Amino acid sequence: MPRCPDCNKFVSLDSETEPEVDLEVSDDGTVTGTAMIVNNCGDCGTEMAAAELEVSIDPESICAPPPPDAPPPVEGAPPAVGESLEEHLAKLHDPEASLEVEDTSRERTDRYEGKGRGQRHYYGARLEVEVTCSCGWVGTGEWTDDVQASGMDPRRTKEGEPMNAKRIRKPHVLVVHRHERGEGSTILAVLPATRRGRVMAAEVVAEERGKPGFMSCDVVEVQEFGGRAT
Ligand SMILES: [Zn+2]
Ligand SMILES: [Zn+2]
Repeated sequence: MPRCPDCNKFVSLDSETEPEVDLEVSDDGTVTGTAMIVNNCGDCGTEMAAAELEVSIDPESICAPPPPDAPPPVEGAPPAVGESLEEHLAKLHDPEASLEVEDTSRERTDRYEGKGRGQRHYYGARLEVEVTCSCGWVGTGEWTDDVQASGMDPRRTKEGEPMNAKRIRKPHVLVVHRHERGEGSTILAVLPATRRGRVMAAEVVAEERGKPGFMSCDVVEVQEFGGRAT
């Protein structure tokens, strides 16, 4: 059992928290992105370990539903699928057509491998995604991956400190820069979540706006963590 830095007890982990997902789809139909999994203290909810999993789904495995006139599925055979995104894009197609991706289901996975002393524990995520083409075509795909528990670390702040460090035990606001090209995100600031938390976060963003590096980024997000904001 790990020891929680916040309540200082050996605790069980809450590994059921929903993955944080960031996805994009390229013109050739490949879905890429990240799924962040976080394990919290089962007692006080402090974030204890996190891992960012790389998402990648091939366009050949993203498929439309089978056509309504398809023959009924044969018992024991894999389920029938319709046209894949790869096939769809290879067809004579509006060159202006654009793709969008959204996850329709996100869940955590948890498994053990091996027995006895050598037993390894894996935490992961499973996603179901839906890709929509502007021509009206819709297809679905799925992805799953996991990481060994010992390979998970506390999530780090911009300064490299674990987020569950003592100095940020109280509720905080995180100002995050999500990169336009899906190359992760940068933490701009960690601020105490006072009633003015959001206002302060907005000020930090305004301050960062002119700096180099900021220009290549697109969206700024404000997340709250570390418990309820006061
Ligand atoms: Zn705790
Ligand atoms: Zn299309």
